[in-house]
Amino acid sequence: MHGLMMDAPLTISSLIEHAARHHGEGEIVSRGTEGVIRRKTWAQIRSRAKQVANVLTQMGVKQGDRVATLAWNTDRHLELYFGVSGMGAVLHTINPRLHPEQIAWIANHAEDTVLFFDSTFLPIVTAMAPHAKSLRHLVMLTDTEHMPADSALDLQCYEALLGAASEVFDWPAIDEQAASSMCYTSGTTGNPKGVLYSHRSTLLHTYGVCMPDSLNISARDSLLPVVPMFHVNAWGLPYAAAATGCKLVMPGPGLDGKSLHELFEAEGVTISAGVPTVWLGLLNFMREQSLKFSAMKRTVIGGSTCPPAMLRSFELDYGVQVLHAWGMTEMSPLGTSCTLKRQHMAQDREAQFAVQFKQGRTVFGVDLRIVNDAGDSLPWDGKTSGHLQVRGPWVLKSYFKNEGGDPLTPDGWFPTGDVATIDAEGYMQITDRSKDVIKSGGEWISSIDLENIAMSHPAVAMAACIGVPHPKWDERPLLLVVKRPGQELSKADLLAHFEGKIAKWWMPDEVLFIDAIPLGATGKMLKTRLREQYGSTPLP
Ligand code: ADP
Repeated sequence: MHGLMMDAPLTISSLIEHAARHHGEGEIVSRGTEGVIRRKTWAQIRSRAKQVANVLTQMGVKQGDRVATLAWNTDRHLELYFGVSGMGAVLHTINPRLHPEQIAWIANHAEDTVLFFDSTFLPIVTAMAPHAKSLRHLVMLTDTEHMPADSALDLQCYEALLGAASEVFDWPAIDEQAASSMCYTSGTTGNPKGVLYSHRSTLLHTYGVCMPDSLNISARDSLLPVVPMFHVNAWGLPYAAAATGCKLVMPGPGLDGKSLHELFEAEGVTISAGVPTVWLGLLNFMREQSLKFSAMKRTVIGGSTCPPAMLRSFELDYGVQVLHAWGMTEMSPLGTSCTLKRQHMAQDREAQFAVQFKQGRTVFGVDLRIVNDAGDSLPWDGKTSGHLQVRGPWVLKSYFKNEGGDPLTPDGWFPTGDVATIDAEGYMQITDRSKDVIKSGGEWISSIDLENIAMSHPAVAMAACIGVPHPKWDERPLLLVVKRPGQELSKADLLAHFEGKIAKWWMPDEVLFIDAIPLGATGKMLKTRLREQYGSTPLP
């Protein structure tokens, strides 16, 4: 017997309708590429999203067609999020930090028909557009005043197009399983692969994001997503903002410490989210200038391990709660978030920190397990590490165009490529990427653990650890360190800092002080590059 409840499809247009109807006056504040701060309301974003839908319809874009963006976190990008998906097309957010050749490859693979881009990225568009065969329209996200005087490309102006379009548009009824947006993995190994989200997966993920033990977003918040809208839909925050009607503050291209801090203060930001490298820049700036936050309550840190020293600093120096979270493009991206349970509340601060350093507990909707090489499930004892696998309604089933074949295990789990432990209370801790783990004498050494210890030394700005081939042990750890400006540090001093914190056989064999650690398109350390460059360093 079926239940007798309505079968209302979960669609992205319902999010913007909700925001406009129930939080119509709620603010969207955005720093634009032109350098000005723009202020809009949820009601205006809805009207403009409808204008976007009319513009696309006039261009001949049909449901299921891919519409690409190369854009910062701005109000205009937000309009595209709702306008493109709302009219049934697929929003393809492209990461502008990729190489133009790779961007052209992705645009061809996705068969993008229209590209909306910020003026910052005109050089990329000029380089890639001649090679992107399916692109019919290039729209610059600016007003007529800021359009380039001459360009070899046939460019259209966003504000001119919207100005001529009607604000009346009836969102079509869409099958909730229809594709709504797509994002390519960064392709550190092989070509990037497309992850195609559906309206349903996005809506369910949105509920998951907002929950109190998840990213905890409400109508009382002022939310500033630093994580880019071109990286896994800014972790789903634009949708969560519409669902809750919170104030949304968009940083545009200003991701340096000064620009961010100014915006945090001016707009009373209470919650933010980003990768550790961004927070490093902000915290360094604030330390130098002796600044504090006046309204910030929580920040989500994910994308790579939050260094314990950073977590402590946010909590103890600035009174900001850190929500350490883990996920990936293939998971929309949220998998786990770290908040304490009731039984932790009576514990002392250090015991609580020990919990918070982990990547956290699964958000309802995502199921986790760890397995050995043979695929057998491993115990949840907080010590045994294994390959982390996931499943759930916002986890990928297959890549776009079935690239790479069936990614799932025979029993239907998605292998994340991460290595993790899970403790008896369900807290997961990433110990490494499968490909970064250092295999020494048949055992695994966690490169992340060694990096975290190095980063907790006051003279260290950044650290990366890679395995270097060793005749006897297979691999041994090499530590690459960037010192803080003006700091002195020797190998012996740094290694002394590891004493008592790790098993003896985990001690790095060699330490190299280098000027910078290369970062990839999503702000993560490029260990592939480090291995190419330092992988044959002779060990003492
Ligand atoms: P990419 O395409 O670069 O892999 P993703 O954003 O999909 O980009 O990256 C997902 C991976 O990032 C995860 O599989 C994991 O290795 C890493 N990651 C994400 N969040 C964390 C975290 N909090 N701690 C450690 N690693 C993380």
